[in-house]
Amino acid sequence: SHELKTPLTSINGFAEILATGTTSKENTIKFANIIYKEGTNLLGLIDSIINLSRIESMNYDKNFQKVNIRDIAKDIVSKLSLRAKDKDLNLNLMAENVETYGDKRMLEDLLYNLIDNGIKYNRPNGKVDVFINKVDGNSIIKVKDTGIGIPIEEQNKIFERFYRVDKSRSKKVAGSGLGLSIVKHIVIYHNGEIALNSNLDEGTEIKIILPIENK
Ligand code: ADP
Repeated sequence: SHELKTPLTSINGFAEILATGTTSKENTIKFANIIYKEGTNLLGLIDSIINLSRIESMNYDKNFQKVNIRDIAKDIVSKLSLRAKDKDLNLNLMAENVETYGDKRMLEDLLYNLIDNGIKYNRPNGKVDVFINKVDGNSIIKVKDTGIGIPIEEQNKIFERFYRVDKSRSKKVAGSGLGLSIVKHIVIYHNGEIALNSNLDEGTEIKIILPIENK
């Protein structure tokens, strides 16, 4: 409730001031921008919450289809390439043609969240590499970045819902702390595994292992 109430309180407060009709033009623009930004964050948060509860409530009747992970990755990489370019990052996809059984929409969300994080927690002139391949009946998705890294003592917490490493370092970057929690649930749903390898100030690699013959 804190995550929802804080931005709404701020939106309400600024709207109340604007409603008096007494703010200068400069402040009107400033407050309207805050309302817009908080509103956008809130919409993103609500999307993530709906997504998470959808996944959690879908434990029965898994309707896995054959999906091509390379095609999904291509799609997500092209969606995020502009954002990478804006941050002067090199976003690369190295993918084998891997088909696996799974939920297409969830696998799209998974790739989106991982690549988005690789971009968000990076530095100018950094790199995000996405690898897709197949090993021993499993499909492997690996997202490796040259970003700020995650301190060892935080590494087992980042998959918890709403958890953000050191709020001050994440504050500059929009986010809800739900992305990796969604990733974790998607991986569990697919009977898969996650391996995290991260070094502070050097970068992060997240590897997802999914059985191909999932039913
Ligand atoms: P969000 O990005 O919305 O804060 P996530 O659940 O996706 O939430 O991530 C949780 C936290 O883990 C982030 O706030 C960030 O501090 C850290 N994190 C996630 N991915 C990375 C990454 N690739 N590099 C560095 N830190 C990361």
